[in-house]
Amino acid sequence: MTSTSYPHLLAPLDLGFTQLRNRCIMGSMHTGLEDRFYNYPKLAAYFRERARGGVGLIVTGGISPDRRGWLLPFGGTMNTLGDIWNHRKVTRAVHEEGGKIVMQILHSGRYGYQPFVVSASSKKSPISMFKPKALSESGIESTIRDYVRCARLAQKAGYDGVEIMGSEGYLLNQFLCARTNLRQDRWGGSIENRMRLPVEIVRRVRAAVGQNFILMYRHSILDLVEGGNSWDEVVTVAQALEQAGVTILNTGIGWHEARVPTIVTSVPRAAFASVAGRLKKAVGIPVVASNRINMPDQAEAIIARGDADMVSMARPFLADPEFVNKAASGRADEINTCIACNQACLDHTFANKRASCLVNPRAAFETELKYVKTTKRQRVAVIGAGPAGLSAATVAAECGHEVTLFDSNDKIGGQFNIAMQIPGKEEFAETMRYFKRRLEITGVHLKLGKRISQEELLAQGYEHIIVATGITPRTPRIEGVDHPKVLSYIDVLLHKKPVGKRVAIIGAGGIGFDVAEYLLHDPSTPLPVPLAHWFAEWGVDPQALQNGGLIAPVAAHPFRQLYLLQRKASKLGAGLGKTSGWVHRATLQRNKVEMLAGVEYRRIDDQGLHITVNGEARLLEVDNVILCAGQDSLTELMPNQPNEDGPRFHKIGGAALASELDAKRAIREGAELAASL
Ligand code: FAD
Ligand code: NAP
Ligand code: SF4
Repeated sequence: MTSTSYPHLLAPLDLGFTQLRNRCIMGSMHTGLEDRFYNYPKLAAYFRERARGGVGLIVTGGISPDRRGWLLPFGGTMNTLGDIWNHRKVTRAVHEEGGKIVMQILHSGRYGYQPFVVSASSKKSPISMFKPKALSESGIESTIRDYVRCARLAQKAGYDGVEIMGSEGYLLNQFLCARTNLRQDRWGGSIENRMRLPVEIVRRVRAAVGQNFILMYRHSILDLVEGGNSWDEVVTVAQALEQAGVTILNTGIGWHEARVPTIVTSVPRAAFASVAGRLKKAVGIPVVASNRINMPDQAEAIIARGDADMVSMARPFLADPEFVNKAASGRADEINTCIACNQACLDHTFANKRASCLVNPRAAFETELKYVKTTKRQRVAVIGAGPAGLSAATVAAECGHEVTLFDSNDKIGGQFNIAMQIPGKEEFAETMRYFKRRLEITGVHLKLGKRISQEELLAQGYEHIIVATGITPRTPRIEGVDHPKVLSYIDVLLHKKPVGKRVAIIGAGGIGFDVAEYLLHDPSTPLPVPLAHWFAEWGVDPQALQNGGLIAPVAAHPFRQLYLLQRKASKLGAGLGKTSGWVHRATLQRNKVEMLAGVEYRRIDDQGLHITVNGEARLLEVDNVILCAGQDSLTELMPNQPNEDGPRFHKIGGAALASELDAKRAIREGAELAASL
């Protein structure tokens, strides 16, 4: 595969005994399908699509070498000959498409959510309720044997290699760092002792599987936790792993319990690639860069400037299985870019639901949601070019229908045009670029700047009318809500109305939090936020001189004084994403936003906002009050009564249900409806 645009990324990599067709790795992601034997046909279909899409090397989700290493009760395990039959479905599918695949061996250690957890010491993790048992000398020996058996079984199942998971704070990382390794025997104390377990595992796995088998190791190069390793220790471990027989050194950033975000959308793209670059200078085997790399131009630049030999992208392959083929054929503008929202992937995993993708609802549902060519071409009108309408229109057209998409706005995107105004949500623009291109490719007739009426629609003889008109912001009934100091979030984010220095935000849902971040941003700092600024803000030392790369964050100088309010008594932001909500809350706390729950709104006047909190009256002397109080559906185009002889009307996205609406539901509903026409 060659491309003039990405010569480094698409160059093959010769490992001596085998060759990888390019430098792209699909990093490990737990979909949930790997945990149940009956889901392996679905897992095989999922990996088949990615292999067909051209990726050089696939890494499976984590598979435990034994029961103690389970992340969840009855998680995916490879410890008996019986296990290999399921895995063969996966390896066969990938090989039939010309791909290569390694199985990740993941022992969760104290991160396991089950009662058999073990670790280096008996110190509980802040993110699991189970206290681990410290492994005894014989327990360590049996764990090493379990890794070896697991790797040999993977070899029998047809994998091209294994990846040993040594980062993100899992078992091997727990042995490596003084934070969690309090042992005083030969497995604890000095770095030579702490690294004994991972190095011994690699040495014995290599001896068992022979030389012609990929042995990738995911090494934590920036722990981002107190008591994490220093750079010198990171290098010492890497060199010992190389000596022990590792073929490729993958890298990991941050433990799961770290209080520094490492993959959410507000993390600058490719933020940690230079850290991989420093490691590459210290070892002789190929090094892989990872974390927040989502487009081929960055991946190309990382390899071209010598920061890595390969680039691992995980979520981008959920978003677009054809990522590599598109890049290679000069169609990078057709890539469905991962916007790093975590909403349908990691948030699902943590909720014990099957992972998928917000921008690609087919991910991990390849055998269930199919875009099949129709034998009966129908005329379809879609009203509203927000995420729901864009998804419905492009899938219906892909299936062969004749589709016309209307929007009263003069551009596509609906609320995504507002969302992308939020600092740290710049990625949302990529989704609109993707859909714009998709409309062109699928031949959707686009009619912008036209608020179409029901009569006009009925006159045009459509067979299906899909109402995707979204929502209208809710104006709460509060005395003085028409005061000039009251603005809606649309006034602020879209119409850029001036906002004073002291502000109260009514409503603390996703949009209330986003508006707070928007108002805290000092316009003299460019967007996206420069990397050095972001490191300083979160207290990251990419040199990792000590403490796993943590330093004191710079003091915040809040750009405005903000109050964020809700009527519910629950914690603010409780409904935000599990893996991203804490980042928003931390940002607001650092900027001293006063977050108030259990608020009763009394009135708004020249003095400000009068409220009662826990029975006590308070006046918030603010210049502006911004309404972020939820939304109501816009359904004016739906008929009052069904007409058997007329077109079939459908509602999707915000038009169908405004509460609990997000882009994940909007895009999925659009795709599912269109595929079923
Ligand atoms: P909309 O996006 O509202 O689109 C409806 C479209 O219909 C609009 O373009 C409108 O112009 C058009 N329309 C309406 N009436 C007519 C008519 N009569 N004729 C023609 N056209 C019409 N969601 C997430 O999942 N994650 C996030 O991080 C996130 N962040 C957000 C941040 C902000 C600041 C905002 C405002 C929203 C955010 N959302 C987020 C919500 C997400 O954008 C919405 O859930 C999603 O846009 C809903 O899609 P939709 O297609 O149903 O409606
Ligand atoms: P939302 O999450 O439903 O929040 C609405 C807020 O308004 C709540 O805090 C609610 O709290 C308050 N409210 C509701 N009715 C009110 C009333 N009559 N008077 C005063 N306050 C009222 O909706 P949203 O923030 O508008 O977001 C819309 C959708 O976009 C959400 O579904 C969200 O998932 C999505 N979104 C997601 C993200 C993300 O990061 N994932 C970001 C932005 C938006 P009380 O009722 O307790 O007062
Ligand atoms: Fe990326 Fe969001 Fe899709 Fe996850 S759900 S793969 S973060 S776009």
